[in-house]
Amino acid sequence: MFLKNIKMHGFKSFADKIEIELDKKITGIVGPNGSGKSNVVDAVRWVLGEQSVKSLRGDGSMTDVIFSGSSTRNALNVASVTLVFDNSDNYLPLAFSEISIRRRLYKDGTNEYYINNERCRLKDINDLLMDSGFAKESLNIISQGQVDQIILSKSSERRTIIEEAAGVLKYKRRKEESLRKLEKTHANMERVNDVINELEIQIGPLKEQKEKLEIYEKVVSELENLEVSLVASDITNINYQYKEKKKELDVVNEELLKIMTTTTTNEVKIEEFKNNIDKIDKEINEKQKELLDITSLVEKTNSQKNIILERQKYVVEDQKLHDNLVFLKEKKSKITNEIETNRFEIDLKEKELKEVLEEFNKENNDIQKNKQLKSNVESELYKKNRELIYHKNKIDNLRDTIDNNSSLPSSVRNILNNPKLVGIHNVIGKLIEVKEEYSIAIATALGQSANNIVVDNENIAKDAINYLKENNIGRATFFPLNIIKPKGIENNLIDMVKGIEGYLDVASNLVKYDQKYHGIISNQLGNVIIAKDVNSANRISKIINYRYRVVTLDGELFHVGGSITGGKVQNNRNIISDKYELESLIREYSNIELEIKKLEEKINEIDHYLKVHEDKHYLINKNKITIEEYIKNKLNITLDLEDNLNDALLEMKSIDNIMNKSLSEEEEKVINEYYEVVKKRDFISNELNELLRNKNNLNDTLDEFEFVFKKENSLYNSKSNIAKELEIEINRCDVKLDNLLMILNETYNTTYENATLKYKLEIPEKEARSKISRLKKELNEIGVVNLASKDEYDRISTRYNFLITQKEDLYNAENTLLEIIKEMDVIMVKKLTESFSVINKNFQETFKELFRGGNAELLLTDPSNILETGIEIVACPPGKSLKSITLLSGGEKTFTAISLLFAILKSRPVPFSILDEVEAALDESNVSAFCQYLDKFKDQTQFILITHKKKTMEYMDTLYGVTMQESGVSKLVSVKLEEIKE
Ligand code: ATP
Repeated sequence: MFLKNIKMHGFKSFADKIEIELDKKITGIVGPNGSGKSNVVDAVRWVLGEQSVKSLRGDGSMTDVIFSGSSTRNALNVASVTLVFDNSDNYLPLAFSEISIRRRLYKDGTNEYYINNERCRLKDINDLLMDSGFAKESLNIISQGQVDQIILSKSSERRTIIEEAAGVLKYKRRKEESLRKLEKTHANMERVNDVINELEIQIGPLKEQKEKLEIYEKVVSELENLEVSLVASDITNINYQYKEKKKELDVVNEELLKIMTTTTTNEVKIEEFKNNIDKIDKEINEKQKELLDITSLVEKTNSQKNIILERQKYVVEDQKLHDNLVFLKEKKSKITNEIETNRFEIDLKEKELKEVLEEFNKENNDIQKNKQLKSNVESELYKKNRELIYHKNKIDNLRDTIDNNSSLPSSVRNILNNPKLVGIHNVIGKLIEVKEEYSIAIATALGQSANNIVVDNENIAKDAINYLKENNIGRATFFPLNIIKPKGIENNLIDMVKGIEGYLDVASNLVKYDQKYHGIISNQLGNVIIAKDVNSANRISKIINYRYRVVTLDGELFHVGGSITGGKVQNNRNIISDKYELESLIREYSNIELEIKKLEEKINEIDHYLKVHEDKHYLINKNKITIEEYIKNKLNITLDLEDNLNDALLEMKSIDNIMNKSLSEEEEKVINEYYEVVKKRDFISNELNELLRNKNNLNDTLDEFEFVFKKENSLYNSKSNIAKELEIEINRCDVKLDNLLMILNETYNTTYENATLKYKLEIPEKEARSKISRLKKELNEIGVVNLASKDEYDRISTRYNFLITQKEDLYNAENTLLEIIKEMDVIMVKKLTESFSVINKNFQETFKELFRGGNAELLLTDPSNILETGIEIVACPPGKSLKSITLLSGGEKTFTAISLLFAILKSRPVPFSILDEVEAALDESNVSAFCQYLDKFKDQTQFILITHKKKTMEYMDTLYGVTMQESGVSKLVSVKLEEIKE
């Protein structure tokens, strides 16, 4: 190993690029004062990593080493120095036969380091040179005036020389590094301890708050589950009531409209009747006046007739016959009148009877029709009552089946109901929640698997099977949670069918279940596709090449491979659809109840109607019988009168034959006139009676209409009351719905749709309500909670645990470092002790040889502490007494220092050494001794000497001269040795 080449450019006075070729022997660098020789030494130190500007003879910043310009040259921006080493003996631990180290410095202060032209860090150079013997701490480079420093430095500073020579710098650095790390570790540990203490204060209360929060969250979640599901169920019920009431209201409103129309028509009719009665009243008045007139006429003609008759008594001979004839004539006229009046009356009564009969038949028909209607409604009611009983039984049976698992095979039931078997969950069908519309499809997809029992593990399955065997109660299939693995359909297949019309989803996505059953549910439903209908299922099966089962909403099943199962299942009962069937039965049951209520109301209405019309019918009938009796009676009277008339006519004829014409024509005329007027009077009287009867009839009909009108009015009022009540109830439902929806929205931030999808009320409503109020009370008791406490606790405890681990790590690191330090100390003590003793021995020898006598030695200031001891130099040149080395002459100090230098070189040879005018203070004979000594070492160490001494130059193998021909810029010239030696 030796220094082959020094290349410089821009370093101090070396503005131009120069190269100093060196060989293994002694090279001298000579030149006039200030020419730049020492700058060469600085350059070498600088490359080897010198960071002290002072050591490089500067007093400002490191950039001072860049060529700062001269009277003729401008300053440069960069200084660069390269050392090239021959490393063919692998002295430096790099697998290169030649190693170059370069340092470059820019004006802005940027340093660059290179090893073999590869950019590296200063540390890499330090590591490479560590314990090489030419690191910056070594004595192999001694700058101008520095040689005395060895002697003059403090004993504590001097130990560095021994350390470097002993090769312990590496260990010392490592120890220092370890101590630094130890200190840092210790400080870290204290910091960690402080934080741990701080965290311990916080963690206790936080844990309590977190536990309180956990209870609170549990209660809140339970409350949310219950309240949302209850509210959703309430909404469903109230909404159903709301719709039903609306329907009822529509019906009542329609009825009201009908009643109103009839009432208006009746009102018009009543008015009409009243008008007619007024008209008849007028006619009656007129007739009464007419009757009055005619009655006075009758009286007048009667008195005329009486006068004639009185007069005739004196004229007629046979007075008796005459009287009799007059009497008979009167009788004839009277009977004729009576007969005509009766006939007239009978005609009128027959007319009236006809009308009454029409009315009677109409009422009769109406009553019969309503009786028929009532019997139809009654048989409908009977049917509905039977349906109600049928539904009730069905509901009871189904409820019983659900509660007691009766639809499950007895073996499965036995397993589920056996409390001794632990680890049994339930049958698959009961572990899932499915919407009603998918229930048939999911039940079909599961098939018999719906009854398969989910258990914790295979051992529990084995126990359950043994139980079945021992008790001989059939077979069952078990799904151990720890074994059954999920199944699925490849994503690319799903992507292919996703867009197909009628594709709904994979079956496992359409059911809700506890996540711990994911494996089993996916195993059974993860590889089944649900489609809307047969056509879509067919298309999907084809696309997926019949690789997975496809099931339709109606339960048609497309098997793997392409076969299809369909049709109506005879007994399609299964544990999945049972609860939906129960719900639908309950719905139907209450619908039937409603229908029954309506039918009963209808029957009541018909009864009421029948009662009114039967009463009316009775009255009409009564009237009819009266009229009939009257006519019959009148007819009999008339017949008797006709008989009487005939008798009178016969008697009159026989008297007429006996008597001559005894009545004059005038008498005859008066008598006839009288009977004409009487006839007329009776006729008018009959007409008046007829008018009165008509009026009575009209009044009766009017009463009837008014009765119906009043009845309809009261029906209208009662119906409008019902309508009002219904409106109030509808309104109440509306308000309730709004309130419930508001609870969902504001308290739980969800919608009714979401609520029904996610939450299902699994306990009776009453129980749910009392549970909700209990949970709310519990929340009140819990009071205020710190919502951030969980995160905070997790964060703090994670940090706490982390710090505890870190503390342990730091503790371990501290121990490791202490071990390393101990090891370093052991090695250093050994190496230093050995090295010191060798150097001390060598020093004594070289001193004696160079001084040609005398004594010198190195003393440890604290031999008990070799690691920190200082080193004293004791020197006694020949013939002199032992004095403090500071009292030695300049030459003696230099020579002592050189002795030590050589002693070190002897104990640990270095590859090269640069000595800048170290021999300047020596006299000629000592220079010779020094040079001879150099000569002795030149095989093991390459020397580069800067000197002014001719004597020294004589010992050089190669000489370089440094000049400053151009002012301020150093140049290198070669010097012929012969010239020196001459
Ligand atoms: P001596 O024989 O007196 O010890 P020397 O040959 O060793 O002298 P050096 O000390 O190496 O001389 O060189 C000093 C010269 O280098 C001075 O002239 C100084 O001006 C010059 N110098 C130092 N730093 C720079 C710099 N950054 N730029 C230019 N010149 C510089």
